[in-house]
Formats: sequence, structure tokens, C-alpha cells
Amino acid sequence: MNMMQPGRTTDTWAASLSEFGRFSEQEPMARHTTLGTGGPARWFFRPAGRSALVRAMQSIPSHIRILPLGRGSNMLIPDSGFDGLVMDLSDLNEMRIDGCQAHAEAGVRMSSIARQCAERGLTGLEFMATVPGDLGGGIAMNAGAFSQQVSDTLQQVELLLRNGDVVEMPASGLQMGYRHTSLPEGSLVLAARFELAPDMPDAIRERMRSMRSRRSSTQPLSQPNCGSVFKNPPGDHAARLIEASGLKGTRIGDAQISERHANFIVNLGGASSADVLALIERARIVVKKKSGILLEPEVRIIAEHPVEESA
Ligand SMILES: Cc1cc2nc3c(=O)[nH]c(=O)nc-3n(C[C@H](O)[C@H](O)[C@H](O)COP(=O)(O)OP(=O)(O)OC[C@H]3O[C@@H](n4cnc5c(N)ncnc54)[C@H](O)[C@@H]3O)c2cc1C
Repeated sequence: MNMMQPGRTTDTWAASLSEFGRFSEQEPMARHTTLGTGGPARWFFRPAGRSALVRAMQSIPSHIRILPLGRGSNMLIPDSGFDGLVMDLSDLNEMRIDGCQAHAEAGVRMSSIARQCAERGLTGLEFMATVPGDLGGGIAMNAGAFSQQVSDTLQQVELLLRNGDVVEMPASGLQMGYRHTSLPEGSLVLAARFELAPDMPDAIRERMRSMRSRRSSTQPLSQPNCGSVFKNPPGDHAARLIEASGLKGTRIGDAQISERHANFIVNLGGASSADVLALIERARIVVKKKSGILLEPEVRIIAEHPVEESA
């Protein structure tokens, strides 16, 4: 469906995006983040697939700021919105398995990758069953859990550069660390290839079941949240430090440090991104004062305008 109302946009390049997928203006980002907060994206584009995206990129002027979006499960967008183009890549959703290699496009849900690999008796990506994002977001974040992470088995990524070129890059060419990947400036992950190892499907499924059940018993999964808010500092856990600082249950507006897991902030219903940010800041200040450790956000805090973003 073409969501653009003819004549609303004065930018010809933006108007042309509706030829390649769904396009809208002033799209409320609260609908696209798992926290349920965030103001409007000036332009919002969901390309119909990989080739539509590659063709569309040619028409986007180089000064336009692009924010790639997966499932918005690790993103905090300001209440004032995003003054640029949000690219929702969820229709890049093809996947195939050849032997021990899994190939998937950026918009495939990580839980679906985990399930399909288990069915084919391939181990290495079980943790993906517990992470609610898409592959592109998982690569950008080097997602991980239960002693596995994307970089362990990632072989190659296909990238769309800001100048419209498509390049393949070996994983060894990306600097991947704890919840961080250095992608070339302005590039989008189109697809990736993983090299996995064979195992019994039932054993893999059992590991996934056990991971999911550990998650649901410790995390506030029934309330809107964005996963771990802070990275764990070396040798310690952000949740332990926040709890030891007496902050569990602390509330600003409708944002609350979860009673269940102190490294989660939950939206009690009407939280704004400003409430969440204020709570993040309070936790950093109090933890620093009590333990001397300055927590670093894991959640991507997006700026409305092009300024320094915390990543
Ligand atoms: C309940 C819950 C549990 C979670 N558990 C875990 C966990 O165990 N381990 C873990 O690592 N994370 C966890 N997370 C956080 C989150 O799910 C991961 O970081 C995930 O990888 C984000 O994927 P996404 O598609 O939602 O990305 P988004 O939130 O949409 O984007 C995250 C970042 O990636 C960039 N990005 C997205 N797609 C692309 C692309 N195609 N190309 C380039 N950049 C892109 C975005 O611009 C943004 O900077 C959890 C979150 C929730 C809500």
C-alpha cells in the first residue's frame, strides 16, 4: 500500500520512494519501538525487498540522514522525533540453508533463524531464539546471550553503502566487540552468511527451550522494554550495580526500573522517551556515586538532529 498522500511532500526524491515500497511522512516511531516511545520520523520508508532498496538508494540525496530500523528492540528515539529518513528493512526477509551455511537477509527475525537452523540440525545460533530483533539489528549490535554472539559464526555480510554500491565484506573486516560492530559509515546490512556446526535437532531445540525459560523467569517480558539498558562493565553486572544502589522500582513518569530485572526499564503505559532518558541518567549518576562505575548505555540513543549519538 502506498501510504504517501500526493502533494504532502515537497521533496521529489522522497515522493519517488513510494515506487519502491511503503512511504509515509511524520510516522510515529512509538509504533516501531518495543518500548513504545518516540516521536515522528520525518520520512519513513519500507522497501519492498532487497532490489527495491538498492534501486531506491540511488534517488536519496547524500545529505539525507538515514536511520536503519529492524524491530526497534534496542532503540530510544526522542519524543521530538527523527529529522531524517527511517528505513524499515523488515521486508528483506529471505533465508536459505546450504549444508552448514545459513544465508539470511537483514529483515529475517533472529528467532526464525534460530528455529530454521535447529530444524536443519545446525548449532551456533540458539541464543537468537531469545532476542526479539531482526538479523540486521543483530549484526549492527553484535547481539548475544548465553555465551554465544553473532560474531562467533558470522562469515560474511553484504552491505549497501551510502553511495549505492553493494559490497561483500568478510566478518574479519568488521570490528565486532561486546554489543558493538563497526560498520562502514552510513552503510546498511542487506544480508549475512553464517558457518554453523552439525548437531542433533532435538538437542538444539532443548537448549533453545532452556534459554527461553531462563529468560521468561528473570525478565519483565510482559511489559514494553528495550532489553538490557546498560552494558555490563568488566567483571560485574549492570543489574547488580543498579540493584545495590537501591534503584529497583524507581519511577520517572511512566518509566520504571523493572522490579523484576534492574537492567530493564519498562514502560508502564504512558512513558515518554524523556522519562526513559531521565531514568537512564539517574541510574548512571547514582551508580557512579555508590560504586565509582560509570555505566555505558547498550540501548542506542538516537538524536533528533545530526549530533554525536551514543552507540
Ligand atoms: C526483551 C528483550 C530482550 C533482549 N535480549 C537481548 C539479548 O539477549 N542479547 C542482545 O544482544 N540483545 C538483546 N535485546 C536487544 C535487541 O533485541 C538486540 O540488540 C537486537 O539485535 C536489536 O535488533 P533490532 O532489529 O530490534 O534492531 P533495532 O533496535 O531496530 O536497531 C538497533 C541498531 O541497529 C541498527 N540497524 C538495524 N538494522 C540495521 C541494518 N540492516 N543495517 C545497519 N544497521 C542496522 C539501527 O540503526 C540501530 O542503531 C533484547 C531486547 C528486548 C526487548
